[in-house]
Amino acid sequence: LTIGVVAERATGERRVALVPEVAKRFRALGVELVIQRGAADGANIAEGEFAEVRWADTVDEVLAADMVLAIQPLDDESISKLKPGAVLVAGLQPYQSADRAKLLAERKITSFAMELLPRISRAQSMDILSSQAACSGYQCVLIAASHCTKFFPMMTYAAGTIRPAKVLVIGAGVAGLQAIATARRMGAMVEAYDVRPETKEQIESLGAKFVDTGVSAAGTGGYARELTEDEKRQQAERLGKAVAQCDALITTAAIPGKKAPQIISAEMVSKMKVGAVVVDMAAESGGNVAGTVAGETLRVGPALIVGPANLPSRMASHASEMFAKNLYNFVVPMIKDSALAIDWSDEVIAGTCLTHDGAVRHDGVKKILG
Ligand code: NAD
Repeated sequence: LTIGVVAERATGERRVALVPEVAKRFRALGVELVIQRGAADGANIAEGEFAEVRWADTVDEVLAADMVLAIQPLDDESISKLKPGAVLVAGLQPYQSADRAKLLAERKITSFAMELLPRISRAQSMDILSSQAACSGYQCVLIAASHCTKFFPMMTYAAGTIRPAKVLVIGAGVAGLQAIATARRMGAMVEAYDVRPETKEQIESLGAKFVDTGVSAAGTGGYARELTEDEKRQQAERLGKAVAQCDALITTAAIPGKKAPQIISAEMVSKMKVGAVVVDMAAESGGNVAGTVAGETLRVGPALIVGPANLPSRMASHASEMFAKNLYNFVVPMIKDSALAIDWSDEVIAGTCLTHDGAVRHDGVKKILG
């Protein structure tokens, strides 16, 4: 079995789908590895750190492999160069581009979109959404702190004491909890809010205060559901006070497969403290804050609103390591005696499959295609 690793082509993407430690583990299984030259440069990994791999000067050599690993979706030209029957394992953004699924099916590629991975306990070690969300949550806090004109920790100096900054985190999923933990480690006073009631205990266990809006909206599969108009009004009223008092606001709220909910209105932004910093992690999926523009930093009334794009790429070394280990844990059960042996009765494998044998297999994506 030969596994190929491409150099990512998306603008600003610095991550790579294979790191030396994982390459070694694949080699121990008798897998041949071919990596596109330059693929690991953005993650600051030198070629010499990879042992027993072949370096390809062209992407075509990589795309000729039996299985291809990537961080982001391949472009149409690259897909057309994959061998029919080849396996593609990557973040394929299946809901954003259902047409790509059609092309993969036409080309008879067996593709696995890691975003579709069933979020069951057994699959946690394969979950790229969680590992990359942890990177994003951490990065949001660093961005907020770097724009904030106040110390995050309490500071005692010869002339007195400076109060710590107040940080408000909205959305306490994987990214939000990491943001809370990071802001707490930096010494900030942290408040947090989520519509799922079980997050109260998780927020408090990290040393933050839960903002109780009285709105509780647990959905299916441990996720949040969309709020009704009345619930949105109640949420805005109760959250307004915390928003107006914070020095940094970090928003991470998402609803799977849907546009991010807008939680912070223009009016709420207009009542923020002068110099308050907002980091809207949901910027790329529509934004939780009115006025956010993905990829931009804008002054809106009293606040500075940052809409960061591709946060995990900012910490490409560790984000790549986490991603590569997730892919390895997913791929290994498909390898028997150095060859591909896919067990379609495995719910993790079947549930993550986007296309196989000339057809789109995932029900949610099939629905989008009509
Ligand atoms: P996500 O990225 O889909 O959403 C982020 C957070 O936003 C969630 O906590 C959600 O409740 C919150 N949110 C949505 N609408 C909101 C609103 N209007 N106001 C405030 N908050 C709002 O979520 P995620 O981080 O991917 O994970 C969500 C859940 O799934 C968590 O319980 C997590 O522990 C669980 N999970 C399980 C596994 C597993 O078992 N394999 C893996 C990862 C996550």
